[in-house]
Amino acid sequence: MKIIFDFDNTLFDSMQLKSMFRDIARVNGFSDAESRAFYSAARNDEDGIIAITLDRYLEEVRTRCISENKQIDEKATRAAVDKIKKNGVDLLLPGAKELLKFCCNQNFDYHLLSLGVRSWQMEKMRWVGIDKIFTDSNTVFTVKEAGGKVEALRELFGFDFTGKNTVLFNDRADESDELLEEFSDLVVFLRRDERDERSSGKVVNDLLKNYGDRVFIAGNLSELLNSFINYAH
Ligand SMILES: [Mg+2]
Repeated sequence: MKIIFDFDNTLFDSMQLKSMFRDIARVNGFSDAESRAFYSAARNDEDGIIAITLDRYLEEVRTRCISENKQIDEKATRAAVDKIKKNGVDLLLPGAKELLKFCCNQNFDYHLLSLGVRSWQMEKMRWVGIDKIFTDSNTVFTVKEAGGKVEALRELFGFDFTGKNTVLFNDRADESDELLEEFSDLVVFLRRDERDERSSGKVVNDLLKNYGDRVFIAGNLSELLNSFINYAH
């Protein structure tokens, strides 16, 4: 069986990291709304290309400080950045370790799909220690937001890939919808995150309605692992 793991917000707590990014803006006196706007501004460098990194967010805060004639608080900024690097090691989502261990022990053919700037994605992978499991040979990086994962799967498994005998662990319901539509035999295990509307609410109900037994949904990875153990046996 082939197993594909999405990285951000499936195995790694990217929502929490985003909140730590926003602290850099907040310690420089920007509002919560501004801190979010900076994230949106730093996230893409052109339409549809994901460009967010810690350096880009930091640069965005510096640029805004200059344009508003504000002195950046270097000490507080450094403390916020150090906190990110220090706490990054705890950002593997609960249950991820057990899920990965199970898949490694079963000798499945497993792969990681990583959406974002390669060097930044690798840094996060190193923080949480999964760079030993996912190396160049079983990781595909893409920076394209729309359709990037479809392309990545074709790159991995060929143009006639249908998703047969393949399971995807993912968090985004909208993205999963696209993949289930494209690959008619693919099965998706979805980690629903109530903090993210793209992975909860109506889109999730639509997934269940449209794809029936090709979709398993749970609020955490431990529950998903239990469903997967049943499914795999
Ligand atoms: Mg994701």
